[in-house]
Amino acid sequence: MPEISVVTWIVGIAALVIGILAGHFGWGRRWRLPSARVHPDYLTGLDYLVTEQPDRALDVFLKLMETSADTVETHFALGSLYRRRGEVERAIRIHESLLARTGLPAEHREQALLAMAQDYLRAGLLDRAERLLLEVCRVPRLRVTALDALRGVYERQHEWRQALDTHRELARAGAAPPAAIAAHYLCELAAAAAAAGDLVEARRLLREARAQQAGFPRAALLRARVAEREADQELAVRLLHEAVRRAPVLLGEELPRLAALAGLEARDGLLSRLVGECERDPAAQRQLVFAALAAGIAAATPLAGAVASVFAREAALSAALAAGGGDLGRATRELGALLAHAERYRCAQCGFTARSFYWQCPACHAWEAFEPHAVVTLR
Ligand SMILES: [Zn+2]
Repeated sequence: MPEISVVTWIVGIAALVIGILAGHFGWGRRWRLPSARVHPDYLTGLDYLVTEQPDRALDVFLKLMETSADTVETHFALGSLYRRRGEVERAIRIHESLLARTGLPAEHREQALLAMAQDYLRAGLLDRAERLLLEVCRVPRLRVTALDALRGVYERQHEWRQALDTHRELARAGAAPPAAIAAHYLCELAAAAAAAGDLVEARRLLREARAQQAGFPRAALLRARVAEREADQELAVRLLHEAVRRAPVLLGEELPRLAALAGLEARDGLLSRLVGECERDPAAQRQLVFAALAAGIAAATPLAGAVASVFAREAALSAALAAGGGDLGRATRELGALLAHAERYRCAQCGFTARSFYWQCPACHAWEAFEPHAVVTLR
C-alpha cells in the first residue's frame, strides 16, 4: 500500500473515532474528561492509530472486545480497521452486532448504518450500499457524507444521470465536488446517446458539459466524434485539435486519428501548429514526440526540431540513438514499435497501468488521473 494512503486512512480512522468520542461525550457542547467513561486501553489504541501503528491498535481493540470494555467506540474502531485491511466480512459482522443491540442511541445507529454502507461498498455489494446510503441521507448531520458515497455508488454502476443529480444535490448542500466531474457525467451520457444513434441529444449534453466546465477537453473530443459521424470534417479536425491542445495526454491515442482526419495535404500544417503549441511545455512536447513515434510519423518534417530536442533531453532515447549508430530513422522506427505495444498509461493515484487511456481509473475510480507511462519508464 502506498505510504500516502496509509497515512490517509489512519488519519481517517482517527477522525472517525474522535468524531464518535465527540458525539458520545457531547464535546463541542460541553467539555468533559473522557477518561471518566472510556477504558484507558481505548485511548492507548487511539494513540496507536494516530502514531500510524494499525496492527498494535487492532490488538488493543481486540483485547478490549474480549474483556469487559465492549463499547460502541471499540466496535467502530475495529470495524473501520477491518474494512481498511480488506477484511470486510469481519467489519460487517461487527457493525451488524452493533445494530442488533437494544437501546442503541439513534446517533450511533445512524453512524453504524453509514459504516456498514462503506463495508458493502468496499465489498462491491453496491445495491446494499445504495439502500443504506439512501437511508442515511435523511440524517441531516450525515447527509453530505452519505450523498458523496452514493455518488460513488452511481459512478460504479454507470448510473450517470443519478450521479449527476447527486452531484447537484451536493452543490445545493454547499459541498459540490469539482465541476469537471459533473462535466464527465454529462460526457458519459452524451457518449451513450451517440452510441444509441441520438446525435441531437449527444450534442445537447456536450453543450451542457462545456457550460459546466469551459474548454472541457473530453467534450471537445466527443463533439469531434459527432462531427465526424455527421461528415463535418473541418469541425472534427478543429475540435479534436482543441482537445489535444488542452489535454496533451490525449495525443497518444488521438494523434493518428487527427493526422488522418486532416488529410495528407493539411497534415504537415497541423503538425507545425502542434509543435508551436508544445514549444514552451517540455512535458507536452515529449508527449507529442512519443505519440508521433508510436504512430510512425516521427519522421515528418515539421517534427524534426521537436524530435531532436526530446531525444537530446531523454537519456534513454539518446542511448537508443547511439546504439543504432546515430541513425535517427532507425531509432524512431524501433522506439515506435516498442511504444505501440507498451502499457502507455498509468494512474497517478493507484499505479494501475493500461494500454488504453481512461478518464476514470478502472481500479481506484479517480478522475483524470491517467498519465503517460511509457514516457516515464523510458526515461
Ligand atoms: Zn487508479
